[in-house]
Amino acid sequence: MKNLYICKLLYLGQPNNSKWASSLDSSHAGLQEIRHRILETEKLKNCFECGICTASCSMAEMLGKEYSPRKLLEDIYSNPEKALTSEALWVCAWCYRCHSRCPQGLKVPEIFLFLRKIAVERGQTQAFDKALQRIVKNIPLPLVATFVCYHPERAGLKNEQVIKRIEQLREEFVNMRKSRTHKVSKAKIAIIGSGPAGLAAAYELGKKDYNVTVFEALSQTGGMLRKGIPQYRLPKKLVTEEIDFIKDLGVEFKTDTQIGKNLSFEDLEKQGYRAFFVGTGAHKSHKLNIEGADLKGVVNALDFLWGANLGKKIEVGLRVVVVGGGNVAVDAARTAHHLGASEVTIMYRRSKDEMPANAREVEDAEQEGVRIEFLVSPKRILGKNGRVSEIEYVRTRLDEPDETGRRKAIPIEGSEFKLQTDEVILAIGETPNLEFLPKDVELNDDGTLWINPLTMETTVPGFFGGGDAATGPASVIEAIRDGKRAAESIESYLRSTNEE
Ligand code: FAD
Repeated sequence: MKNLYICKLLYLGQPNNSKWASSLDSSHAGLQEIRHRILETEKLKNCFECGICTASCSMAEMLGKEYSPRKLLEDIYSNPEKALTSEALWVCAWCYRCHSRCPQGLKVPEIFLFLRKIAVERGQTQAFDKALQRIVKNIPLPLVATFVCYHPERAGLKNEQVIKRIEQLREEFVNMRKSRTHKVSKAKIAIIGSGPAGLAAAYELGKKDYNVTVFEALSQTGGMLRKGIPQYRLPKKLVTEEIDFIKDLGVEFKTDTQIGKNLSFEDLEKQGYRAFFVGTGAHKSHKLNIEGADLKGVVNALDFLWGANLGKKIEVGLRVVVVGGGNVAVDAARTAHHLGASEVTIMYRRSKDEMPANAREVEDAEQEGVRIEFLVSPKRILGKNGRVSEIEYVRTRLDEPDETGRRKAIPIEGSEFKLQTDEVILAIGETPNLEFLPKDVELNDDGTLWINPLTMETTVPGFFGGGDAATGPASVIEAIRDGKRAAESIESYLRSTNEE
């Protein structure tokens, strides 16, 4: 390994003459601008090289030794010219796990994006195509991942061109497969839930000619890709294309089939299923326990978004209040705005710094005219003739961090105020609903599925799980990673039981 420590001492000693500074100074962006734009320059100097970023990175896990964010940071620091032309620069999928685990709180994805922009400015994008080839070969759902994870448009690349290239690369993959003999395994595998976790597991197992069926409770496949993420951020045509590709591998899909209701595990076992993957996500919305929460016009965000994504004619109020501060709240607010609401206000009990929603989505929402009121907590919802008419709020102040690590919001007595509204959308969090599982499958205290982090197996042999059902609400790329990891373990399990 290069002596990064010495490099750092040199850098700290002579900030204006560092290799890092001088090599980038010659690019289109000047040194001052670079300093200004790399938000975390100071922290990057103090990177401990602990490797937590790489250890927590979904992409590093899926691509193996070929990708290490820690190594890329080292290159950015000591040899930025190399970093600018490296395939690795284009691999980060923006899940921010590295940032949330980094002892220095480095905004690693932002640093990579910054360099990507410089590479595009300089016309040095050859490495991007190489990265794309690796992504298509190793990452299930590359079209979806491009839209919701890699965001090439943020670096200045055209999404349409990227999609065209992915389709071309997949065509090559299909042609390669056609020349192989098709041998279907005798063991049947049931995948419960058709979100990215289930789809990734189905893709990996289908690629190896296992006999796979995906059971989906809803009328359409795709999980949150179809139900939650709005059309303007993820065109549903791409979700359909990804799923058609998996169907072409021989995977069967059964919609309107809720396991635990329409079919039991005994039924599945009788039908010859020998391994199960639980990828049922987190779809149970938290309830708001305040007066008026059951009035007409109070809806939960997932139902609201699902209706909008189905293209249903939704009557959206003119003055909409969204309660919450995560991505779901921001998507619901923007969707309400797109559907014609004239005044949309997000009410969040903590400050902007604590807001869990992606900063870019928040920025976009504000630019579209969505108003965000920070440090406020709903007290009661008032109605007229059974329908919501006003919401009463109390201002909050932040106290010490609670068990989640975020600062507690304490109501300030006497600071109540009211806001007129004709629709309240609740986006205060979701949890998995795993009541349908056999009793021996153990859950964590927070209601998520307990899985062995290495094998993805639950407490019952042959039952595997992953995605939001196991992590709680997370991200598409993490769900894909879980599905891919579980597929490997399912294969080993079937081999070990001679049921392959
Ligand atoms: P899901 O996608 O939730 O899929 C689970 C599926 O299982 C569902 O289709 C459900 O109907 C089905 N199911 C449940 N129970 C049963 C049963 N008993 N029988 C059969 N089927 C069942 N992530 C990002 O990375 N980027 C984003 O921009 C982003 N935006 C988001 C916006 C919104 C509004 C939401 C809600 C989420 C967003 N996410 C985003 C998070 C991401 O969508 C999820 O982390 C991901 O979809 C989880 O995948 P999953 O496969 O675990 O579960």
